[in-house]
Amino acid sequence: MSDPIGSDEEQFELNVRPTKLVDYIGQRQVKENLRVYMRAALNRREALDHVLLTGPPGLGKTTLANIIAHEMGAMLHSTAGPSIEIPGDLVGQLTNLQKGDVLFIDEIHRLNPTIEEKLYPAMEDYEFDLMIGQGVVARTQKIRLEKFTLIGATTRPGLLTAPLRDRFGIAFHLDFYPPADLEIICKRSAQILEVEIDEQGAREIARRSRGTPRIVNRLLRRVRDYAQVDYDGRISQEVASDALNRMEVDKFGLDERDRKFMMTIIEKFDGGPVGIGTISAAIHEEKDSIEEIIEPYLIQIGFLDRTRRGRMATRRAYEHYGITPSLSVKPGLFDSQ
Ligand code: ADP
Repeated sequence: MSDPIGSDEEQFELNVRPTKLVDYIGQRQVKENLRVYMRAALNRREALDHVLLTGPPGLGKTTLANIIAHEMGAMLHSTAGPSIEIPGDLVGQLTNLQKGDVLFIDEIHRLNPTIEEKLYPAMEDYEFDLMIGQGVVARTQKIRLEKFTLIGATTRPGLLTAPLRDRFGIAFHLDFYPPADLEIICKRSAQILEVEIDEQGAREIARRSRGTPRIVNRLLRRVRDYAQVDYDGRISQEVASDALNRMEVDKFGLDERDRKFMMTIIEKFDGGPVGIGTISAAIHEEKDSIEEIIEPYLIQIGFLDRTRRGRMATRRAYEHYGITPSLSVKPGLFDSQ
């Protein structure tokens, strides 16, 4: 049975996801360079070179892959690193591609190494070495592939191997969005949702969205619920602020998870330095999700320092949570800042 909540969200995703480069808000430099590369490839009637997209989750990597396919007039085929389990899965995907098609591999850092090696000749020479038979009768057969564009996305560029990274002719890193761009995204999504929102309402949601378009869209949908049930349906600053406070999203956009993470470092470990494994055990969060989801934004807003000895809370974090560093840890605590 289909889940009505899930499908509502999926429908919203489909409606709200920009398909043209001009509708992709912010990331000006990425857009400008991409426009040139796409135009040049189109003029030469070639497939676009392979593209690597890196950056924290929710910043628009999948959206950009969709836009590239759309703008190049190409078909998009999507998969993810962990879904390609055996070489057969990869050959299936690759032989399906027509000339100029785009193959999008999300979480490309999670490709298994044998599959990754099979990808190299496909990217470089549009060839795939297929193993036929086993043992002494095993032989390889070369399969010719159409010229295609591989778009790889990852939240963890540091985990990519150099040979894979080097095979992408184009690489873009997406950074957190400034509030002004998020405000535009918020207003655009509100229009699609047909909910009335004023300038200050959009600003409030943008300010509290952790620099992330996906969070803007999520918070907007929830604020809309509060606006409809407890107000007259319109989103003003007052409505947005009340709703976000009730959702325990603070003025920096930090939520309960961020608070727990920071408070654990501050209270349990006297501000650090403390190792990621220790924090992970203390707050029952996977190390990966701490490194991919929680930490990047806390580092960006200057709440967290990643030092060689471990994670440390900064003076700003203490101030934000209204805590005075204890005397016993004061000397040296902020040495690295
Ligand atoms: P990622 O693949 O990096 O995790 P997505 O591409 O899935 O992120 O983006 C998450 C959501 O944010 C999507 O609903 C998308 O519509 C929206 N979004 C992302 N970037 C932008 C942008 N630059 N302009 C408008 N909407 C965006």
